[in-house]
Amino acid sequence: MNILIINAGSSSLKYQLMDPDTGVVSAKGLCERIGIDGRLNHSANGKKVVKDIPMPTHSEAITATLNILVDPVDGVIKSTDEIDAVGHRVLHGGMEFFASCIIDDAVIAAIEKCIPLGPLHNPANLMGIRACQAVMPTTPQVAVFDTAFHMTMPPKAYRYAIPTEYYKNDSIRRYGFHGTSHKYVTKRAIELMGTKDIKIVNCHLGNGSSLSAVKDGKCQDTSMGLTPLAGVPMGTRSGDLDAAVVQFIMNKYGMSADECLNMLNKKSGVLAVSGVSSDFRDIEENANAGNADCELALEKFAYEVRKYIGSYAAALGGLDVLVFTAGVGENSATMRARICQDLEYLGVKIDAEKNNTRGKEAIISADDSKVTVWVIPTNEELMIAQDTAELVKAAN
Ligand code: ADP
Repeated sequence: MNILIINAGSSSLKYQLMDPDTGVVSAKGLCERIGIDGRLNHSANGKKVVKDIPMPTHSEAITATLNILVDPVDGVIKSTDEIDAVGHRVLHGGMEFFASCIIDDAVIAAIEKCIPLGPLHNPANLMGIRACQAVMPTTPQVAVFDTAFHMTMPPKAYRYAIPTEYYKNDSIRRYGFHGTSHKYVTKRAIELMGTKDIKIVNCHLGNGSSLSAVKDGKCQDTSMGLTPLAGVPMGTRSGDLDAAVVQFIMNKYGMSADECLNMLNKKSGVLAVSGVSSDFRDIEENANAGNADCELALEKFAYEVRKYIGSYAAALGGLDVLVFTAGVGENSATMRARICQDLEYLGVKIDAEKNNTRGKEAIISADDSKVTVWVIPTNEELMIAQDTAELVKAAN
């Protein structure tokens, strides 16, 4: 089977052609500068090509993608008929979507309804969907939501303690993000442990970071909220904050709410604390060279992640498996060690030698650790491809 995976942003569109059974990616690329001029970056057959192609809208980007996929030299298929289905990444499913689903008019209307919750991403995701529908009208399209995996949270986890009218009238509640990644690593952890009957805390630590608490394969709580701003500090996001800080800064510096939120999303997190970079590699390098602010940024990040692990162990009533994934989680042995430091009371004991690993599935806990600690590289595209294939097969 060939599944085309589409991740459409406001001026870009990423794609991969993947076999959902093997996870093999035969081609992938990025259309960028959509609406400006247009450039296609394509990798296939061990070769990279860059082409300037006018892309006034997402439709031209999809057409350029399909053209290069069937190109006799740079392509990997003979005809677009060989694409069995398209899986679209959609940011916000609001309270409308609890799982991935085949796209029809009702689904499009429901994604539109979620635009107030994902004002930047959902319109772009819809442009990608509509463009695909226009150029490949008979190919099934599936929507895979970043929020869906977290929809099993109980009300005590997802309701905010603010007046009910905001929940009832405006759907203001915790949703959580990175759901496709949390779903993938949960699925792998269950496969690797050979049982679903486990309490898992997943740590997706990248440029954006979030944790999830999972019991019997179902999400019970997650650190991001209505938007991806909540939870642990991230590359440039503040994470959890006393809301009164917003009022104070707005009043003192004459900032609008949008300006203040922009500062919290783009100029905060480890970038702000380190004063150097949002990239953990740069921060680690500078901390090793003696930069105290970089050391504080790493300490603060590890401390906040550790606090979430402790609170989720309490929420789940125990902990069997701790998973590290995404750029930092998969690659930074020192950050994993910092986070797990002093977690022995919880049954988490890292083996320094086993922890010296990157980018591959591995147990990093000591043999006598009560909690099994895994590094599991995430694969959101494979999850999207598998969900898409499953839904399309079931519909036939
Ligand atoms: P995104 O949220 O953009 O998908 P990623 O999951 O790709 O982010 O993670 C990016 C982060 O991972 C960057 O901050 C990068 O510095 C960090 N990272 C990647 N490799 C390493 C490494 N070897 N050591 C420390 N951090 C790393």
